Amino acid sequence: MGTSSHKKILVVEDEEDILQLVRHYLEKEGFRAVTAMNGLEALKKVKEDTPDLVVLDLMLPEMDGLEVCKRLRSVPDTAMLPIIMLTAKAEESDTIVGLELGADDYVTKPFSPKALVARIKALLRRIERVPSNGQDQYRHEDLTMHLARHEVTLGKKEVPLTAKEFGLLEHLLRHRGRVLTREVLLNAVWGYDYYGTTRTVDVHVRRLKQKLPLLEDAIVSVKSLGYKLKDSDEPG
Ligand code: CA
Repeated sequence: MGTSSHKKILVVEDEEDILQLVRHYLEKEGFRAVTAMNGLEALKKVKEDTPDLVVLDLMLPEMDGLEVCKRLRSVPDTAMLPIIMLTAKAEESDTIVGLELGADDYVTKPFSPKALVARIKALLRRIERVPSNGQDQYRHEDLTMHLARHEVTLGKKEVPLTAKEFGLLEHLLRHRGRVLTREVLLNAVWGYDYYGTTRTVDVHVRRLKQKLPLLEDAIVSVKSLGYKLKDSDEPG
């Protein structure tokens, strides 16, 4: 039954009623559901069950949702794992922090399970639209990145980029619409054995924007945490 079949969702929530309600709806919609009731258990389940998406409550015993999110984002295996955060209205400022730490979306309590499932499906669709590594090129407006040729063109004109600028742009394009922390970018482009600081990322983003002015507004800085390249259909 469409994209939902066989997708595994981890639901992390310490309120048993909500947990069972969400699990019930997910299973009714053809998802597989695994559950955790605290932050530490959540990290363990992510490792053991490798879910396709995590629904993560913000207020949790043992370790709160923000910390769980931060830890998942700091490890390459789970840096891109889709996360929807559950928050209460009163926690709205935390919600913003949550999004900056790399949650992909959030749902405010009280919520209808039906609405949550709709958000889950929307997020999974968005992720699936991201081209795989096997794809030959990425496009953004007039810019085309030819992966095999290791070349970037603006209209018909080639724009020379250094290897790191190329790698950075490729990573931003591949994960467009998502916030990538400086640490994630640094690890992806420079590698773990690199001794530079996260400021290196800022310098290279600035150079990319100088060489490709059409990225000036497209690559946005998210507070002190990192960057994202906006989806073309994304507002603001
Ligand atoms: Ca809670």
